[in-house]
Amino acid sequence: MARVYNFGAGPATLPLEVLERAREELLDYAGRGMSLLEMSHRSPEYTEVHERTRGLVRRLLGLGDDFQVLLLGGGATLQFAMVPLNLLGPERGCDFTITGAWSRKAHTDAARLGRVRVVYDGRDDDYHQLPDPAALDIDPSAAYLYLTSNETIGGLQWWQLPDSGAVPIVCDMSSDIMSRQLPAERFGLIFAGAQKNLGPAGVTLVLIRGDVLERCRQDLPAYLSYRSHAAKGSLYNTPPVFAVYLMGLVLEWIERQGGVAAMERLAGLKSAILYGVIDTHPEFYRCPVAPPCRSRMNVVFRLPDEDLERRFMEQAQAEGLVGLKGHRSVGGLRASIYNAMPPEGVEELARFMEEFVRRQG
Ligand SMILES: *Cc1c(COP(=O)(O)O)cnc(C)c1O
Repeated sequence: MARVYNFGAGPATLPLEVLERAREELLDYAGRGMSLLEMSHRSPEYTEVHERTRGLVRRLLGLGDDFQVLLLGGGATLQFAMVPLNLLGPERGCDFTITGAWSRKAHTDAARLGRVRVVYDGRDDDYHQLPDPAALDIDPSAAYLYLTSNETIGGLQWWQLPDSGAVPIVCDMSSDIMSRQLPAERFGLIFAGAQKNLGPAGVTLVLIRGDVLERCRQDLPAYLSYRSHAAKGSLYNTPPVFAVYLMGLVLEWIERQGGVAAMERLAGLKSAILYGVIDTHPEFYRCPVAPPCRSRMNVVFRLPDEDLERRFMEQAQAEGLVGLKGHRSVGGLRASIYNAMPPEGVEELARFMEEFVRRQG
């Protein structure tokens, strides 16, 4: 078996030992003579998986008891609607930062559902930098301040959080959750689709602080209400059981590696290798993102022309380095180096990049 290094942005590479374990357990889970895929979500086996996974999330992120851990369907995209549905109201608007493609989509949905004030929009410089957090003018009566901690397409990451006072921060952490240590108590609600840093597609992690949950609307259809999910320990309806199981295996893997602190250290090392190559050859590689906002998860770069970019991708692919095409909306190249990307994969890519410059394509 020849596994490639997959730099795709998501669904993304998973730790090999997680896949092997899932394969071992696929046909017969815990000696039950059936697969977890075929088992009731109320069975003792799944209950154990569900609670172990939620416990791991708490432990790895250092969440206090005041946070609810929800495992929902619908992707991060459903959260673009659920957050405003639950938290906005006739007298309650929110403040938004638009820092790239994902926050722009979230803003479009929120603006359909309530009053949204944009406190930053990076459109004028094509979303190549982030605002100075101290310069944001946040309305103290806003229901929340919305941030996207890592813009997966543009390759930008917030390194300093705004001080929003009593206004809860709602954060889309889909592409950098558990890749760095963050003070959980600074956030009122965090959500993340699993398929980048936490597992397969199909489950979305939602962390909601008690005081924010208290303020959620009570008149929503059941699935759309955080209250229904929280009241039932995230078993209001059938959860995405297999995705939760795989996420649990990934979280155990993260814990074995040394937890979020270890992931953060690795992300620093891996990203420094790639930005190092890019910055050593400014006449050939160019990262459009302002250095202080560069992402440690999605390294975005351009070559002198699109023909070279195409050849770069083809030749990289032939060497087992795949998924390097930038998002279709921005073009160029993008190396996504989430938690499960081993440092060896990044070193291979760096070696290939050096070689590609030497022979100029
Ligand atoms: C991938 C991604 C999304 C969309 O996730 P889906 O699970 O496809 O809905 C939203 N926000 C960010 C930051 C992402 O990286």
